[in-house]
Amino acid sequence: MGLDGAMTDSAVTIVPEGEIAGLITPQIAFDAVEATFAAMSRKSAYNFPVIRESIGHADALYGFKSGFDRDSLALGLKSGGYWPGNEAKGLTNHQSTVILFDADTGKVKALVGGNLLTALRTAAASAVSIKHLAREDAKVLGMIGAGHQSAFQMRAAVAQRNFEKVVGWNYHPEMLSRLEDTATELGLPFEAVSLEELGAQSDVIISITSSFAPSLLDAHVKPGTHIAAMGTDTKGKQEIDAPILARATVFTDEIAQSITIGEAQHAIADGSLTEGQITEIGAVINGDHAGRTSADEITVFDGTGVGLQDLAVARVAVDLAQAKGVASKVDF
Ligand code: NAD
Repeated sequence: MGLDGAMTDSAVTIVPEGEIAGLITPQIAFDAVEATFAAMSRKSAYNFPVIRESIGHADALYGFKSGFDRDSLALGLKSGGYWPGNEAKGLTNHQSTVILFDADTGKVKALVGGNLLTALRTAAASAVSIKHLAREDAKVLGMIGAGHQSAFQMRAAVAQRNFEKVVGWNYHPEMLSRLEDTATELGLPFEAVSLEELGAQSDVIISITSSFAPSLLDAHVKPGTHIAAMGTDTKGKQEIDAPILARATVFTDEIAQSITIGEAQHAIADGSLTEGQITEIGAVINGDHAGRTSADEITVFDGTGVGLQDLAVARVAVDLAQAKGVASKVDF
């Protein structure tokens, strides 16, 4: 069947990377991710073990994140990884593609570009945590990290509270212009600050770096702060000091990932935090956990990034692409 043919049982829908920007807004990603975290906590949705391998070619890391959501019937995987030489070829270093399958038949259903979706679903996760865990009167947003993801993070976060100012710190100060430009785009003043100043001013802190040593230290963090630690998604990475987690109430997307590849891996390893002290954010969304219980409480969201987030936004992208007539279909 041709590209414009009617959908048949054997047709695969293709949503190219270039169409995603016109289909998925931060709010659409937010709704999909919030529903997914809720389904995970109800045990209606679960992630399969993550595969991530150094393939011994082109310095690449390659892997799969996959899962199944019985509520939405999203079944599939995100395949991809990191190719450090891509930039020199005019390509994005991170490459990902989502493949969705029919949960009733196992037949492949859709192929969806996953690069922009990854940024949108990651930003949606920290925004969900801000909605459910930050103080209602939060005014200052602190950003640690000024890489590719940081702009998406800031755009999604500002929709959740009446922020009046953004402060930022980055290990490579020459990258801070990204934060300033994004804040300006959002109509917010921006100030580049030290980590001490960032902690003293911020009501909400998002960290999104590739660091292997903590940037934010315990002494930097004032009572009442909500921290969304979003960069640590691999064994050995770390953005915030373990004692912060020991005195905070700790939430995550998925506990299994939090304690192995997330920010909590370090506090778990030094014995200052136990697995039982970590709560899935879905429990707060579902009303099974109170979330923040006092204005002085420090809350941490350990956002490790789960396959179900990718499937959720990809599923919506397919539906919207079909509704808007921008999806291609091929017999398979
Ligand atoms: P990027 O390469 O564009 O930016 C990297 C950022 O990390 C920059 O701000 C850089 O200055 C900072 N950095 C580098 N070395 C540092 C160090 N030693 N100490 C402190 N900061 C340092 O990357 P990106 O696309 O913005 O992604 C940032 C991180 O987020 C990556 O580690 C990535 O794996 C992670 N990530 C997580 C999820 C998730 O779901 N949790 C999703 C996507 C990306």
